[in-house]
Order: sequence, then structure tokens, then C-alpha cells
Amino acid sequence: MSINAYTFKPHGVGLPDVTMPVDRALYSVNGGPMAAAAGKIVCVGRNYADHAKELGNEVPEAPLLFMKPASSIQPLHSEQLRIPTDKGACHHELELAVLIGGLMQGVNASEAMSNVAGYALALDLTLRDVQDELKAKGQPWERAKAFDGSAALGPFVSANVFGNVAKASFSLERNGEVQQQGKASDMIFPVAELLAEISAIFTLEPGDIVLTGTPAGVGPLVVGDNLSTKLITGNGQEWAWQTRVTSR
Ligand code: ZN
Repeated sequence: MSINAYTFKPHGVGLPDVTMPVDRALYSVNGGPMAAAAGKIVCVGRNYADHAKELGNEVPEAPLLFMKPASSIQPLHSEQLRIPTDKGACHHELELAVLIGGLMQGVNASEAMSNVAGYALALDLTLRDVQDELKAKGQPWERAKAFDGSAALGPFVSANVFGNVAKASFSLERNGEVQQQGKASDMIFPVAELLAEISAIFTLEPGDIVLTGTPAGVGPLVVGDNLSTKLITGNGQEWAWQTRVTSR
């Protein structure tokens, strides 16, 4: 089953509904098309102390990094969120996503921020049982983290109207109950530092996306779950989106 278009309903800023084709070349910033195709997605693990603790992991000395391909993107704000149902538990990890707008190679933290195009919410969908098996065998995580649909991305709010990202906060409700709440100020490695560190290893290009790690409260999704995600920008604008979990 495939969808060709989706509509998102931004709340709180007076913007009309926007229908976007599901095409990674048209990933939306404030409802408008982006200049570049979505590229690689660099993800950060264990960037919130409370989440590292809930999975029994140490707080890292340097950011733990992994990647998802552009082909793993699905919209977080369409009517349905598709998850695999035949590979054990599929966990939600709600994260702040950073869209890269300029080329970055070994930049410092202050240079990094001038190359950010926008921010969004993402679910880093994770096949937790598969990941536990891979961890036990010392194998890479891609089967658990980089499958089709594993990067559920909401629409981006452009950086020039977002305000100070360190003041951003976000939450996920599942069937009306708050499941995850995050504050960018609780990140172990803040956005600017992450981008500097990442750009020293992987050149960041326009259209690349960085997922900045999840706060505590991760848990399994079940087909039929109603999810509501909320992003409060650095200057206090509130955006909210709804979706329903379905089988891929
Ligand atoms: Zn994650």
C-alpha cells in the first residue's frame, strides 16, 4: 500500500492546511518545498541521561552516532504511521530533527548553527527486540533502525522563525496519555556541539537531517494507537500533529 500525498495541519501560527506529495525531494519547510533532496539522516543515541538510564546504558563521553538512509523517511503528520508488525516490538523515540541547509565540514559549534535550515519532530522508530539481538551479537543496528519508514518526520519549521533551539520542547501522547516529554536544554550534547562533532566525521550537506536523541519514555507502538505530537519552538510557537498507527 502506498500514499502519494499527505496533508498537514499546523496549529497556532495561522497557516492553512498544506498538502504535500510524499516525495523526499519535496520535504517541506513551513509548507513550502525545500531546495534540496533529503539526504542521509545522522542519528544520535543516548543524548539524554534519563533515556540512557532507562535502557541500562552508560552516558557516553562522545555522541553515539548511527545513520538511516533517505529511503527510510515517512511522514509523521499524515493520517497513518506505518510500522512493521512482524519483527517484535517497534518502539517510538520522539526526537528533535535538524534540517541542514548548508555544507558543513569540520565546522565549529557557532558556524554550525548558521547552516541549520529548520527543525521538526521525528520518531526514530526502533525494532527493539531486533536491536537487543544485534547488540548481543555485536552487530550493526541498521536492521533495527534503518528499515523503510523508520524515520517518521514532521514538517520543518524554518530556523529563522524558530527562536533559540535550546529553549524548544516537545511531547508525544499515545492514546491521550503523555508518553515522552523532552527539553532541548536537557541534551547531553546540545545541537551546535552535535553538528560540529558530526561534521568532523561525515560531511553534512543541504537536505541532510540530524536526529538529536530521545528523552525517556520510549515504548512499543500498537496498531490502532492514536499519536499526538507537539513541538514548542524556541520562541513559544506551538505546533501539533496527529497520526494513527497502522501495519506496514
Ligand atoms: Zn533515537
